[in-house]
Amino acid sequence: MIELVFATNNPHKLKEISKAVGENFKIFSLDDINCKDEIPETADTLEGNAFQKSWYIYNKYGKNCFADDTGLEIEALDGKPGVYSARYAGQEHDHEKNMDKVLSELKDVENRKARFRTVISLIINGNETIFEGIVNGSILKERHGKKGFGYDPIFQPYGYKKSFAEMDLDDKNKISHRGRAVAKLVEYLKDYKS
Ligand code: IMP
Repeated sequence: MIELVFATNNPHKLKEISKAVGENFKIFSLDDINCKDEIPETADTLEGNAFQKSWYIYNKYGKNCFADDTGLEIEALDGKPGVYSARYAGQEHDHEKNMDKVLSELKDVENRKARFRTVISLIINGNETIFEGIVNGSILKERHGKKGFGYDPIFQPYGYKKSFAEMDLDDKNKISHRGRAVAKLVEYLKDYKS
């Protein structure tokens, strides 16, 4: 069995990834390796943050690991909130305030194009590999739906008539940024195993 640390304590992400990689891999959380550190995320790109987190774990614990970072990139806002998605309206990471800020900045703006982008940095034996997942869509004029989290109520993926917050989690995961990045990671790990 191959052991990997996922630099997160988010139980939802952990469960999702453990299920996706299958039984040849054992995924450990930060809690599992007794890491209580506030891991720095001070880069100004998603790649930089994912890189910072994965190398932090690898250098400190010497364990093969991966880390992710996600942002919502809105074309009319020059790619914002991007790497600042969680704290766009302030350090308290308030999803409602973040959505209000985006909706007000896009008030009367016709170009609603946006995408979610996830970057995963994987380090195995000191070698880093990057995986990217993107879902294109648009920012709605108001909130739709109650499921999901973050910007889900105002994001509608192309080709669908529902916002992410109106979709069941399994359906969202099939097309989402994170789902796509994880699928690439899983594909890579399958080859790695053989
Ligand atoms: P993280 O890197 O996964 O922690 O994501 C950073 C921020 O991006 C979150 O706090 C959310 O605001 C936003 N975000 C990430 N993934 C999603 C998603 O699937 N739906 C809506 N918002 C998301």
